[in-house]
Amino acid sequence: MTSQILKGADVAAKLNEENRQRAEALQHMGLTPTLAIIRVGEREDDLAYERSALKRCANAGVAVKQYIFPADVPEVEFLSKLRRIARDRSIHGCLIFRPLPKHIDDAKVCAILPLEKDVDGITPAAMSALYAGTGGGFAPCTAQACIEMLDHYQIPCAGKRVVVIGRSLVVGKPLAMLLMARDATVMVCHSKTPDTAAICRNADIVISAAGRAKMVGMRYMIPRHTVLDVGINVGEDGQLVGDVDFDAASQVVHAVSPVPGGVGTVTCSVLVRHVIEAAERRAAKLLIKK
Ligand code: NAP
Repeated sequence: MTSQILKGADVAAKLNEENRQRAEALQHMGLTPTLAIIRVGEREDDLAYERSALKRCANAGVAVKQYIFPADVPEVEFLSKLRRIARDRSIHGCLIFRPLPKHIDDAKVCAILPLEKDVDGITPAAMSALYAGTGGGFAPCTAQACIEMLDHYQIPCAGKRVVVIGRSLVVGKPLAMLLMARDATVMVCHSKTPDTAAICRNADIVISAAGRAKMVGMRYMIPRHTVLDVGINVGEDGQLVGDVDFDAASQVVHAVSPVPGGVGTVTCSVLVRHVIEAAERRAAKLLIKK
């Protein structure tokens, strides 16, 4: 059996075109959707994501303001700048790279960032909106990217058994919520789960976000599976690999996403869409006020 390969590029291309059209419509109304990128320090993975975000924003017609701080920026100085960014009406969304250095209190940062600008769903307010299903916030971009992959490839989740491996606030937990909102039956596995492989074999869809190179091997897989691989790990040979043993999966399962070239490719396009949505919501508020 050879699997269907769920490429992120096809999904991203569609989102990018939608983003471009929506941003253009806002431009016609005199509003330029704008993202603030807030980075402390020079971590290589942050820089890579930033480059990618800059490119996607430029292609879509979304403006970017970059706020770069040295790793030892005093907390008081960082928070004061963040307050100004939060109040700045020309900025519709904020991407704050985390983890922040230990001397900057995450809770203080989240208290400053307004729900409507939290385009990566990092604040308790955004999580609450997602978990309670009240709307008004944004889901974390990676979790949403998984849903975009399933939608694009017309893989239904309603009534399906979905295993999410990983329970972080960035991927696993919000993804479980998004899947439940689509009527999936969700099981979340973590490092203390006994026999995750057996649980996966009972599922229809497996989404791995464990951060363990090639952990999801033959023992986890059955032919009916759709497998999404969120993991980004450095393999023994220094190459990027996912959580899934892709060579094995592509011989066994119905469909599988590669790493690189899978979910990670879509995340940035979702970020851009969230900025545009934030700007659209602002435009709608302004119209109501008029
Ligand atoms: P994280 O905070 O380290 O969480 C990893 C989760 O996996 C934890 O819940 C952990 O369980 C669980 N886990 C670890 N080993 C396991 C095992 N052997 N069996 C079952 N569960 C296990 O990582 P994260 O931030 O969620 O990211 C996860 C992966 O996604 C990483 O590789 C990261 O690089 C990647 N990622 C990709 C994107 C993208 O755009 N594609 C974006 C963000 C992250 P415990 O809770 O018990 O520790």
